[in-house]
Amino acid sequence: MTLTRTTCPYCGVGCGVLAGADGTIKGDPNHPANFGRLCSKGAALGETIDLDGRLLHPKVNGQQADWDTALDLVAAKFSASIAEHGPDSVAFYASGQLLTEDYYVANKLMKGFIGAANIDTNSRLCMASSVAGHKRAFGTDTVPGTYEDLEQADLIVFVGSNLAWCHPVLYQRIAAAKEARPTLRIVNIDPRRTATTDLADMHLQIAPDGDIALFNGLLTHLADAHKLDKAYVKTHVNGMEAAIAAARTSDGADSGLTAQELAGFFSLWANTNKVVTIYSQGVNQSACGTDKVNAILNCHLATGRIGRPGMGPFSVTGQPNAMGGREVGGLANMLANHLELDNTDHQRAVQDFWESPTICTQTGLKAVDLFQACADGKIKALWIISTNPAVSMPDADGVAAAIANVPFVVTSDIMEKTDTNDLADVLLPATGWGEKDGTVTNSERRISRQRAFLAAPGSARPDWQIISDVAGRMGFGESFAYQTPADIFAEYVALDAAVSHFPRDLDLSIFADADYATLIPTQWPANDHRFFADGRFYHPDGKAQMIPVQAPVLPKVRFALNTGRNRDQWHTMTRTGKSARLGPHLAEPYVEIHPADASALGASAGSLIAVESIYGCTILRTLITPRVAKGQLFAPMHWTRQQTTHGTVNSLTAPVTDPVSSQPALKSGAVSAAVYQPK
Ligand code: SF4
Repeated sequence: MTLTRTTCPYCGVGCGVLAGADGTIKGDPNHPANFGRLCSKGAALGETIDLDGRLLHPKVNGQQADWDTALDLVAAKFSASIAEHGPDSVAFYASGQLLTEDYYVANKLMKGFIGAANIDTNSRLCMASSVAGHKRAFGTDTVPGTYEDLEQADLIVFVGSNLAWCHPVLYQRIAAAKEARPTLRIVNIDPRRTATTDLADMHLQIAPDGDIALFNGLLTHLADAHKLDKAYVKTHVNGMEAAIAAARTSDGADSGLTAQELAGFFSLWANTNKVVTIYSQGVNQSACGTDKVNAILNCHLATGRIGRPGMGPFSVTGQPNAMGGREVGGLANMLANHLELDNTDHQRAVQDFWESPTICTQTGLKAVDLFQACADGKIKALWIISTNPAVSMPDADGVAAAIANVPFVVTSDIMEKTDTNDLADVLLPATGWGEKDGTVTNSERRISRQRAFLAAPGSARPDWQIISDVAGRMGFGESFAYQTPADIFAEYVALDAAVSHFPRDLDLSIFADADYATLIPTQWPANDHRFFADGRFYHPDGKAQMIPVQAPVLPKVRFALNTGRNRDQWHTMTRTGKSARLGPHLAEPYVEIHPADASALGASAGSLIAVESIYGCTILRTLITPRVAKGQLFAPMHWTRQQTTHGTVNSLTAPVTDPVSSQPALKSGAVSAAVYQPK
């Protein structure tokens, strides 16, 4: 069996995979992300490539149609809406699962040819707070570190990150590093005890959203214990005094930790030079997510623990290509190639390069606002690409109703039946993993190829081609006349060269002469794979900026609902749900509840409880465990309305967002719970 060198389509670790058409799956021993390792999800990829449930041909109003009919209709509806109501009457909602080439053309069509910025993606739910925090601190959205930093650190601090389940191969690398070097210390900061805690020397079970109080406390301690690197700060950092003054207004006790726990953590951090703080959704998915990010970055900047081997803040992306999407500007507040959407010079440069009739000049609708605009009747045509927002968005029932309220909805998907597809007028069959070619960028800025090793089923087409076909029918054919994804990647690299005079972190010059077919996993920038080694940042004066942040006043709620993911499932289980070996691990919707809370409710192990918020009610199986603290619940978000009649977990979550990043707060919603009494 010939094996094709490709990349796993799930999490942001971006593992290399050797895949065969017979379902053979092996870890790629030569890929620098995983060196042959795979997690349970990656290893089961061969069980997910069958055609059961696949959308094989276009459908219009539930009837099979040919491509020309479907594409003509999509183009006509979007064009008519733009002509009648203006460019802001249409929107795209896409996915961090898309390949960079798909992202690039979707972004180009919306921002350069339609002339709005109403393209947002489910990456808004993943790492928007990190993007915003990076920009405030560094002047750019730059992830400074590399995976090697994790292996070189003397202290790794996990914050709101169950790496063992959500980025398993990176966790395996850290576990191997700790086994080889037992002096490596690990701290796990999480309201919940998770599989990641098993590796930790110290578990700090903070209160939900207690992160700012904790890291402000750390900054105050660093100042009081004379552990700041004042020489580094003087040369490279602005705003330290104001940040420390703001930090002093926080009470460490608001973190939910004891004075002894705080002192132990502060001392360990302050007295260890090589510290990496790695964080993900527990930090990002919060109404104060951006401030949390900056509270962490402040501590690294104030001590110069950044840009050197084994030290730095490290935001890991949830999705396989959230980073690639950021590169090509695939969010409503970004322009292509790490250029600024509100910078007129940047707008002009991109428009000139694209030779486009227009260019967006203001931020578009971000995920929660985008669906609110659908509910308000402002969006007349909506294209949902490779994602299932009727399940994955907060207030999922409200989002489903909002989509139903849009006069014309088109979806591109690999599957026929999804909760979102059920609301669409037109379904367009897309090729899936193993059938399409393109690139993805992982959490350490490494661009790898996804390669096809299967024929496209039915009449399915790659997303870049579908989008280009619609663009052509809208009258923009010359600018979307791509024959292959290699053409798009070459244009993306050429755009980067054309705007190289603007100060940016993105630098794709290493790819200028690369052979797309044989492209090996390559990290940018080329000269030094670690950013800020020279102490230069991207604010106009070359310095980083510490941001004053204050801990939020935490509301008192009966139960705080923390939502998340299981080890063996991915998002709404479109693919992982097919695997017999993945299914048995936590096989049905459940909620973790502390024994004392279960007892107070009268719930016993395995009984059903009704969890209710002002947005909805969901019935879940109780999993009684001290892993969650009293007053908190944890429930995974994977199950859809098609898989359970008892409601989705995101029917409970609120469309509350961080004011800076617009990332939804999915980790501490107010709910009540009671033993379920069937009527
Ligand atoms: Fe795929 Fe992530 Fe598992 Fe690697 S760690 S095999 S990228 S799901």
